[in-house]
Amino acid sequence: MLIRQAAFAKKGTFLKGNLHCHTTLSDGKGTPAAVIRQYENAGYDFLAITDHQRYNFTNYEEGSDLLILPGIEEDRFLDGVGMPVLHIVGVGPEEGNGYTDGQPVHYQRGGSACQCQDIIDNVRGAGNLAVLCHPMWSGNAVEEIKALHDFQMIEVWNTGAALDWGTDSNTYHWDVLLHEGRRVYAVASDDGHNLQQNCFGWVRVNAEKNVPSILKALENGEFYASCGPEIYDFFIEDGQVCINCSPVSQIILRNFSCPHRMLRGENMTGGQFQLRDLCTDYIRAEIVDAQGRRAWTQPIFFD
Ligand SMILES: [Zn+2]
Ligand SMILES: [Zn+2]
Repeated sequence: MLIRQAAFAKKGTFLKGNLHCHTTLSDGKGTPAAVIRQYENAGYDFLAITDHQRYNFTNYEEGSDLLILPGIEEDRFLDGVGMPVLHIVGVGPEEGNGYTDGQPVHYQRGGSACQCQDIIDNVRGAGNLAVLCHPMWSGNAVEEIKALHDFQMIEVWNTGAALDWGTDSNTYHWDVLLHEGRRVYAVASDDGHNLQQNCFGWVRVNAEKNVPSILKALENGEFYASCGPEIYDFFIEDGQVCINCSPVSQIILRNFSCPHRMLRGENMTGGQFQLRDLCTDYIRAEIVDAQGRRAWTQPIFFD
């Protein structure tokens, strides 16, 4: 029997994109035009400019071929020690996403993370996909995140949070959700607030370069997240879990409750694991290159 992770189930081009960034339109240091030019020069195909409480459609750089994915980051300051927050990025269609270009959204304060379902409902009700952002940086307890529903993605890497705050361990939140049977996909995002924080974490999406195709692929898990390595295939065949990738020094197989397994070596371009003793209904892989940069497959679900 062959089960192939959805990103690799069809032939296609893997577009490179960032789903989360800031500009001078909110608290970022780079102008929208400079940020767009930077991503385009770095070989990106698409970018969502997700300034706080402001939905953006516009490509501000004249002559740029970078595709702008409409988007926003909606925030809430919560009650509690250390001022926890909940942040949700919404990305959506060019028509009928419930917002107008540049529309400001009113800030709200108070409550706990598990009382923030209305943010997700607001984003989703307007036809957007929802990304739960940087849960470790936000101070979101796993139990609170489990109480939220109907978000499609979670940041397992957030460049700004990792570089400035050392909070880059969001895969635990993700594995808890997967262990609960939730279909949530991992993204790596920059969330850059200045140009030095951009182009370190991205998604590679098996889609055509237009907004509907990219949104459909994100919703279906037809992508992977990366800070460097490339993933070419991830599948299970005849009881073997297989991954093919660019040269890496670690290949790690994960699910929630089994002992994790790791292959180490130099310039490994793939690995195989015997599938055995699985206690949960998904399996996923992470790879790490010689520079310590990671990439994450989406899970293969067994149901
Ligand atoms: Zn945020
Ligand atoms: Zn942000």
